[in-house]
Amino acid sequence: MRVLLVEDDRAVAQGIRNALRGEGYTLDWLADGQEASCALRDERFDLVLLDLGLPRRDGLALLRDLRARPDADVPVLILTARDATRDRIEGLDAGADDYLVKPFDVDELKARIRALLRRSQGRAQPRLEQAGVSLDPARHEVLYHGQPVNLTPMEFQLLHQLLARPGTVLTRERLADTLYGWHESGPGNTLEVLIHNLRRKLDSGLIRTVRGVGYLIEDTP
Ligand code: CA
Repeated sequence: MRVLLVEDDRAVAQGIRNALRGEGYTLDWLADGQEASCALRDERFDLVLLDLGLPRRDGLALLRDLRARPDADVPVLILTARDATRDRIEGLDAGADDYLVKPFDVDELKARIRALLRRSQGRAQPRLEQAGVSLDPARHEVLYHGQPVNLTPMEFQLLHQLLARPGTVLTRERLADTLYGWHESGPGNTLEVLIHNLRRKLDSGLIRTVRGVGYLIEDTP
């Protein structure tokens, strides 16, 4: 899952990056409201963590612009100051899905992110299950027919992305965006290598290649 963090306080941003490291998200960070607005127009994210007081374009204006677009359904969690009740109300009314008051507990942040992603994928159940594979985002656990499977964070993230939209072909471009964001892929974690590893560790038939397009996991109710 690709998360955009929009936060101009470097210390807060660094704290969030540290907290989310190893959680199986790709985190892209911007400190400027105008740049974030452009990024949200041009690129796809699975979730936005949005500070409200930002240089050049404040968070509320950014959020209103975003929600004015008919296709912009990305979940937004706003990060607000302690005494700013009005900001929170305005934020929610402007289209935010949830908020956290600074300073916040990082475990609560992680749980709220998981809940928002779940809802945006149309799920109420915390676990993702398909074709004998069961993935628990909170515990970072993957079971295959009840047996634990050891995945790297990147393998975990790719599997999570495919399981979240069973029956849907995810393009190579979209998967790469999700996995790497604005970072480079290393030689050991290209999309092909990760798919190969998942097939080897799970079932060779689990992930289908749609030639020239991308990959999917079949929806098997
Ligand atoms: Ca700020």
